Amino acid sequence: QARWADPKLSWGLVPTMGALHQGHISLAKRSVSENDKSCATIFVNPTQFAPTDDLDQYPRPLEKDLEMFEAAGIDMVFTPTPDVMYPAGFGTRVIVDGVTARLEGEHRPGHFDGVTQVVSKLFNIVQPYRAYFGQKDAQQTVVLKKMVRDLNFNLDLIICPTVREPDGLAMSSRNIYLSAEQRQNATVLYRSLAKAKDMIEQDDIRDASLIRQTIREMVNNTPETELIYASVADGANLRELDQISGNILISLAVRVGETRLIDNFILNNI
Ligand code: AMP
Repeated sequence: QARWADPKLSWGLVPTMGALHQGHISLAKRSVSENDKSCATIFVNPTQFAPTDDLDQYPRPLEKDLEMFEAAGIDMVFTPTPDVMYPAGFGTRVIVDGVTARLEGEHRPGHFDGVTQVVSKLFNIVQPYRAYFGQKDAQQTVVLKKMVRDLNFNLDLIICPTVREPDGLAMSSRNIYLSAEQRQNATVLYRSLAKAKDMIEQDDIRDASLIRQTIREMVNNTPETELIYASVADGANLRELDQISGNILISLAVRVGETRLIDNFILNNI
């Protein structure tokens, strides 16, 4: 009702799982600046978590989140519960082929099926003009672009740059799980991506396996960290590259203690 009260107004949508940080707020502010009205959503979507994931312990500081969205100029926050989104009898899935099989999808089976299911519901509920997502979740942006194109969602996806801490660590709701020492060690994600970028842009290295190897070694040489994957892939289809050229996505997933972190750099026109 609120969304269609004045059909002439453009609406932006900012979907989140809450536990907000400045990364989320950058999306919110961009939406507020580009649309007449903005709706944010806070929903820790159970269907994108595996049984072994951190669904139950995921932080849910709702009051603080609402204050932060209000301060950013958000007009409406939708905070459904799982039974509102998936009532008894619910049974529809949205499956994007191909790009969901690699990287995060390979290591988190079913994760993107949950993402496309919930995001398509949020698109239909809010019917935004524009929807805002972070580059931090690079594969998610590729999957959602394909879903929007394939299913003719009538909206523009706006991808916003990754917001980082001063030492380079990408902001994440999961960073609060890290001990002080793990927090230091977690900078290896950014440092290894920066090293990979230098090797490609400064040293003209085009052998992708050499880049993956360097990232692997940097992570392996850092205490309390375990590499889940290091990837140098085509930015459009996410296939691993042998020779680096064109638009590429360098990405990695690392377990720091018990906490799973991801990060990426995009390099264009190599
Ligand atoms: P989440 O609450 O983790 O599901 O994230 C909600 C949205 O915020 C997603 O589109 C994320 O890509 C985006 N996001 C998360 N962290 C950052 C960050 N550090 N910089 C920019 N966007 C982010």
